[in-house]
Amino acid sequence: MCALHWDDLKQGLMDRDMWSLVASSDRAAVDRYFAEADDPRMFDPLMAAYWQIQSAALEVCGMELRGGSNVRERDCSLCEVIEHGEDADEWIRGCLDVQLAQARKLGLMPRVQ
Ligand SMILES: [Zn+2]
Repeated sequence: MCALHWDDLKQGLMDRDMWSLVASSDRAAVDRYFAEADDPRMFDPLMAAYWQIQSAALEVCGMELRGGSNVRERDCSLCEVIEHGEDADEWIRGCLDVQLAQARKLGLMPRVQ
């Protein structure tokens, strides 16, 4: 994901007061990823958003997402979906709203903010 879209994702989590739920390091993110199988409360909304976007982008773009026969220097699923006529800002907003709902369901965020 490009720096612009990565920053948009992070800012969206801060705007939703969810930043405290994000792992503090790459290593912690990996540890939490594996721990989440046993404890759903290890949920990391940044990584969850990232994988949700990757999955949805694969459905929209297919193999073009990874270059396909057209090798690209860029490796950002959101930049790629823009080329397919999608609104990346809307993708980020919708995806982060799903993460907020999940955090509330897990009791990690208050129902009303
Ligand atoms: Zn991008």
